[in-house]
Amino acid sequence: KPIEIKEDESKKVSLPRKPAVYVDVIRSKEIQIARLKLPILAEEQQIMEVINENSIIVLAGETGSGKTTQVPQFLYEAGYALKHQIAVTEPRRVAAISMSQRVAKEMNLSTKEVSYLIRFEGNVTDDTKIKFMTDGVLLKEIQTDFLLSKYSVVILDEAHERSVYTDILIGLLSRIVPLRNKKGNPLKLVIMSATLRLEDFTQNLRLFKAPPPVIKVETRQFPVTIHFNKRTNENYLKEAFNKIVKINTQLPEGGVLVFVTGQQEVISLVRKLRKAFPLRHKKNILKKNKDLIHKKDENEEDSNDEGIERGLKKALTSKKKIKIIPEINLDDYSIPGDSGIASDEDLSDIEDDETDVTTITNAQPLWTLPLYSLLPSFKQQKVFEDPPPGCRLCVVSTNVAETSLTIPNIKYVVDTGKTKVKLYDKVTGVTSYVVNWTSKASANQRAGRAGRLGPGHCYRLYSSAVFNDEFQDYSIPEIRQKPVDDLYLQMKCMNIDKIVNFPFPTAPDLMQLKSAQTRLETLGALNNKGQVTALGRAISKFPVLPRYGKMLALSHQQDLLPYTICMIAALSVQEVLLEVPIGQISLEERKETRQRWFSTRLQWAGRGNSLLLGDNMVLLRAVGAAEYAHSEGKLEVFCSENGLRHKAITEIRKLRIQLTGEIKKNVPDASVVVDPKLKPPEDLQAKLLRQILLAGMGDQVAKKIQPDEVKEGEDKAKFKYAYTANNMEEPVFLHQGSVLKKTLPEYVVYQEIYETNRMYMRGVTAVEPEWLATYVPGLCNLSEPMMSPEPRYNPNTGKVHCTVSGTFGSQAWPLPNIEI
Ligand code: ADP
Ligand code: MG
Repeated sequence: KPIEIKEDESKKVSLPRKPAVYVDVIRSKEIQIARLKLPILAEEQQIMEVINENSIIVLAGETGSGKTTQVPQFLYEAGYALKHQIAVTEPRRVAAISMSQRVAKEMNLSTKEVSYLIRFEGNVTDDTKIKFMTDGVLLKEIQTDFLLSKYSVVILDEAHERSVYTDILIGLLSRIVPLRNKKGNPLKLVIMSATLRLEDFTQNLRLFKAPPPVIKVETRQFPVTIHFNKRTNENYLKEAFNKIVKINTQLPEGGVLVFVTGQQEVISLVRKLRKAFPLRHKKNILKKNKDLIHKKDENEEDSNDEGIERGLKKALTSKKKIKIIPEINLDDYSIPGDSGIASDEDLSDIEDDETDVTTITNAQPLWTLPLYSLLPSFKQQKVFEDPPPGCRLCVVSTNVAETSLTIPNIKYVVDTGKTKVKLYDKVTGVTSYVVNWTSKASANQRAGRAGRLGPGHCYRLYSSAVFNDEFQDYSIPEIRQKPVDDLYLQMKCMNIDKIVNFPFPTAPDLMQLKSAQTRLETLGALNNKGQVTALGRAISKFPVLPRYGKMLALSHQQDLLPYTICMIAALSVQEVLLEVPIGQISLEERKETRQRWFSTRLQWAGRGNSLLLGDNMVLLRAVGAAEYAHSEGKLEVFCSENGLRHKAITEIRKLRIQLTGEIKKNVPDASVVVDPKLKPPEDLQAKLLRQILLAGMGDQVAKKIQPDEVKEGEDKAKFKYAYTANNMEEPVFLHQGSVLKKTLPEYVVYQEIYETNRMYMRGVTAVEPEWLATYVPGLCNLSEPMMSPEPRYNPNTGKVHCTVSGTFGSQAWPLPNIEI
């Protein structure tokens, strides 16, 4: 029976009784005051009692109640980090970093003791006591240490988000915990979640035979008045903008939090709002009043900056009442260069919108901050700080602010009701981003953000009819929405034989499992009985997708490894090469920038095999050139001039170092070092790299559609860049930024297909048809050896040679004859 713990005001006054083992933590006064306001603090004793008495518990509480920051501290104080470590997993990298920093600060410990580990980086040491990590990282650790013997507790945070890795971890830990108990070295599992659909974890008999106890932490939640729109306007960004204008011009004090769907929308709306409600920055005022200041200054004894400021203040307050925004570092306030997953066509609406924004005078300045997961973390931290005096806070966010981060002082929530999801076609593997209605559960989470400070308001930019009829109750768990190849292989390597029987909180559907198995067989990671091969084991050691793992495993030639590593690092990071940014610049300038970037990319691609390596060559050279700029201290300028995402480049560097380390561990004879300034591959090396790419992505081959294959009545020009992909009916296209548009090779491999207004291939490399039989044997259908021409005896080798014909893939493309 779930244990319900209600908030008890009287307990708030004194700290709970200390447990038997108690490790002292010295906190600053400021932190102590902030902690005492958190509802979870009054429940420390009850929570610790339930944890001490049970192996597995579920802790549910509203966002902002203090779960993530406080529970690791309770455990630390109760002695759980004396011999072992405390593990905390987060589905989002942002949360792992920022929460480890916050907890270190609260506990007055160094980041050596409260550390984080994510795929590309970390600061974990031998002295680490509390380790925040992404869920994917813990899953990898299970592969090498199934019993997770270095931990005394595993906290799975944000379990309601239903990330694939957290789901699998719950399944695995449901088995690991009893094993550890049997060995007399108990492990505790704490599943932490917002109060959403807990029964998926607690009422799942395959998962836990006896339902684990549930502790609910009640939060002081003030009432939030929900305002639905009468009608649902399709242009939700415009609607959001208008609503914020209304709030800032007509409604009382209080921060605003706006939910939109993606980075582009965040940036565009932030721009519009900053234009509408500008800050009156000191610099501008200084400029306007220059004469005045100089005069004043002569009368001051000290003519340093402070003098200027005092003089300015006096001058201004005596004349007109202009608010002065103190010390703002405008660099901190700048919006990073935006980029696009979406193509230009999709963005035209947003761009046009911005032109009709006029500055609204006589309104309070709006301190408008963006928030999305690819935003550099120091900029994300800004949302926790107070806005400058006289400004109203306005945070424009993706659903990162729904449950992972609690932004203080929000009174108004503006909810577009939309969310962007990456859809994945289970059969073809095509990905697309679609903007959909979010779920009722997440709309209610969003609304709840307005009631932390006091009574709040949530403005839903859609009608109640839409909410009732079109919103699903809950979002679909991620495991149902993405390929499970890496999980499938990892689980096989953990000797989980029948994956269908694994206790998933929500099982992937059979089709998904089956196509993962087929792809892994094609790669050679599994044999046709579904057992892991030696290659499969080698592949699974690398922290990248199986297809990339295979490429690494194949690149034994030492002069190639640094290139493969670099290419895979670049392919594993999102959005390295940017699209031309929207906003601020004119159409003419955009066209010019696009051409300039494209010609740089062409230059990087070079000639011969190097050009045929295509988009992947561009990535290699871009990274090389960026490293060169880095060594000269000019990386940021270089990136913005050449259309590279700065953070992506730094991530690639870290991943290269990490992958190099893995290779050294797994392939002891490979003397590979990270050479930041990798020189371009020679022609032969480029050719080998094309073959390696084919070996990893052999199931993703596409063949050019020839002009005579275009159906009657279709526009031939439209099909200039069109290909047919193996396994797909509809044509796919070279992206407009692809350097292969110059050569239009007959066969290519691609990294992925994504859909906007058409299907585009990303990360394209040209391959030769005669390579298919060697590198993708699993998809070739070969004939019996042909007796004509007659088999020939080669006296030098002593072998008999004959010719074989065949076809490739599901569309039966003819293969060139092969000599065997
Ligand atoms: P939960 O996990 O229950 O959602 P958290 O432990 O994340 O709650 O947050 C508790 C409180 O700590 C919130 O009020 C939040 O604003 C505050 N907080 C979290 N991180 C930071 C930070 N980096 N700086 C300042 N305050 C923070
Ligand atoms: Mg949390």
